[in-house]
Amino acid sequence: MNTEAPALLVQLLATEWQLSGDWQPLAGYADQNWRLGTSSGDYVVKVASPNSGFAELDLQVQAQRFLTKRLQPHFTKNPQRECAQSPQQQNQSALQVPALLPTRHGELLHFSPALQRFVRVQQYLAGTPCAAVAASERDETLLFTLGEQVGALSRQLSEFCHPYASRPLDWDLAQAPLRCEALLPLLQSQVSAPIWRQLQQTLAEAQLRLLPQLSTLPRAVIHNDANDHNLLLRQDAAGHWQSAALLDFGDMVHSIRVAELAVLAAYLLPDSADPQAALLALTRGFCQQVPLSAAELGLLPLLVRLRYLLSLCNSAEAYRQTPDNDYLLISRAQVLAGLDWFASQNPVRLELALLRAAGLSVDPGADKHNLLARRRTHLSPSLSLSYREPLKIIRGHGAYLFDEQGRDYLDMVNNVCHVGHCHPRVVAAASAQMSRLNTNTRYLHDNLLSYSEALLSKMPAPLSVCFLVNSGSEANELALRIARTVTGRRDVLVVEGAYHGNSNACIDISPYKFLGKGGAGQPAHVHIAPLPYPFRGRYRGHDSAPLYLNDALQVVAQAPQPPGAFITEAVQGVPGQIVMPPGYLAGLYPALRAQGTLCIADEVQIGFGRLGDEFWGFATQQVVPDIVTLGKPIGNGHPMGAVVTSRAIADAFANGMEYFNTFGGNPVSCAVGLAVLDVIAEEQLQQKAASTGAYLCQQLQQLSRAFPIIADVRGYGLFLGVELMNPANPDLPATAATSWLIEYLKSQRILLSSEGPDANILKIKPPLVFGQAEADRFLTALAQGLRLLPADLSA
Ligand code: PMP
Repeated sequence: MNTEAPALLVQLLATEWQLSGDWQPLAGYADQNWRLGTSSGDYVVKVASPNSGFAELDLQVQAQRFLTKRLQPHFTKNPQRECAQSPQQQNQSALQVPALLPTRHGELLHFSPALQRFVRVQQYLAGTPCAAVAASERDETLLFTLGEQVGALSRQLSEFCHPYASRPLDWDLAQAPLRCEALLPLLQSQVSAPIWRQLQQTLAEAQLRLLPQLSTLPRAVIHNDANDHNLLLRQDAAGHWQSAALLDFGDMVHSIRVAELAVLAAYLLPDSADPQAALLALTRGFCQQVPLSAAELGLLPLLVRLRYLLSLCNSAEAYRQTPDNDYLLISRAQVLAGLDWFASQNPVRLELALLRAAGLSVDPGADKHNLLARRRTHLSPSLSLSYREPLKIIRGHGAYLFDEQGRDYLDMVNNVCHVGHCHPRVVAAASAQMSRLNTNTRYLHDNLLSYSEALLSKMPAPLSVCFLVNSGSEANELALRIARTVTGRRDVLVVEGAYHGNSNACIDISPYKFLGKGGAGQPAHVHIAPLPYPFRGRYRGHDSAPLYLNDALQVVAQAPQPPGAFITEAVQGVPGQIVMPPGYLAGLYPALRAQGTLCIADEVQIGFGRLGDEFWGFATQQVVPDIVTLGKPIGNGHPMGAVVTSRAIADAFANGMEYFNTFGGNPVSCAVGLAVLDVIAEEQLQQKAASTGAYLCQQLQQLSRAFPIIADVRGYGLFLGVELMNPANPDLPATAATSWLIEYLKSQRILLSSEGPDANILKIKPPLVFGQAEADRFLTALAQGLRLLPADLSA
């Protein structure tokens, strides 16, 4: 850079501003800036870039004038004199904004015909850019003050208007979704795969959540560039950093007002030791001045991420045009660090913490007592609630649920929200399709075929035809109807303790229900094979399959005719997270098929990779069923189910009676199903279930050595059972201890439930995003619970 001020400029300052002194070049993004030291104080001389038109510069000038009047009223009277004052004499409670010095004719913006440029002169504000102060020295008090002072400036600006503020601007977050959509492809080759995914997700979320809210979010003119280079700090007498000034009004825009805080946060979080604390401190401060709404705070973390994405897009675009300008890459490391940090955060936890920081309620709904009373009045007592003191759950994300006070709970129960609560990909897929079309299978639609083919591609031959339904119960209903139609036989063989659904036909094949409380007993057409339960069943051990097999075939032999269907889970859920002895189904299936029975595998709980090593539970027993039924995880919470069978069986079922299902296979459900399969593959959730499950099992085994109440640890992947027996009497299930532990774990904000007829089995079946950190949190709490377990419960 030429460090010599052009003679024409020196002359201009002398004539128009009557200033002369030492000239030093300053760095600038677009303008050419000089520091001019004079006997009356220091000034910044800004020579606008030839691309800057009057309107753009006038916006800056008017805003600076407006703000200096409002925030530092004494400056504007005579900025020259003020500049000479010591910082202590200046108004400490507001951020300083550089006051403009008029020419001798009173112009704040002067066009120089000789230079063919607009020139303006403003106070030189002393201070250290925030970026040059170590993050460790930026304590929460300072961050709170910065938030508050940028908020105060923003509050003032809400009364400022200028026509040019509404121009399209590359740095406007409200316009970012469109701009980033166009520029995102530039980034793919420049960033790592996880960052690329994070950027794609940021854009998708912005399109899904920000765009629909744009018209209702409060708007104002904002500074829009309170970054750590534009914020100046000064040290007070005690050496503490204080906020001092805000520079650079070039990116001002009329936009969503929350963007002001998003930009500030974007630059102050990444290198902070505790980014969450920093974000909360900034927000607390900002909201003192600008009371952001729950909707604005809900978008704040997304807007920070969007600013990172926008920054990468804008610099990639600028770099494409001027590849030799390294200045354009200045904030890249910071941006990547910020994105990394957000990727590690649970967004709901963050959002709820932000609401609390701003003094807003996290749950505007009714309180728990009110809901309980209304439940009693309007709902059936046959609906049960978990826990002595029921929970009110208002949000979910990943493996976590959040209650009405914003407290997080580790969810180890929900095997429905398989890829994580409210997975953004799944939500986006549902919402996008929902806004386009939702009909039924009587029209041709791509989604129905794309999904059916994707699902069937996960099945072994000859399973090649699917029916889409709305729940696990419906899937089992249809499976029974198929088996009965194809075989002409109504009888069904089931396994002791099994549960297959809530419809009449499903209750009839669920011993857990018909033999349980309120049940009508065993129907004549249903036959029960003893539960193959190697740990505590009628035969024990790994090699007990032939004995159980023999018993099952005897049950069949005693029936009036061979059953049309045999239905079972390959790993039992409701009966107690039970792994059948190896060889059981491999022996039973052919023996039953030889008598014309069709074998149905109920994969409602165990399918879709939960078991880790296998995508489907039946594979753990080395069998291929005639009919497979699917539910729960298939739609990650969206009500879906499916029945899969062979071409031969599907054709034999098609006897002329139409199978019509109003909702089954609709385009929205199919879009959801596809998104679930995509996420399982992309996030390698089956592999994750295998590794986290193996770790959990190994740690639980280890724990069982210290706590003999743990009598058995079993299962696959993230479908595990921990059976608790009384150490003093190993034949006695530790039912009371199990329920005590479940309440204790709840007090530690871990949700778990019990299983089995004696309710003495801890069942572990969390969303598959449950990882090692979550496993450790659970293991630590469980060990502590076992230590604290009252002696009379474990004796
Ligand atoms: N089969 C099994 C093995 C189940 O566990 C369940 C539900 N717990 C069902 C079928 C019924 O599914 P849904 O509740 O979706 O109808």
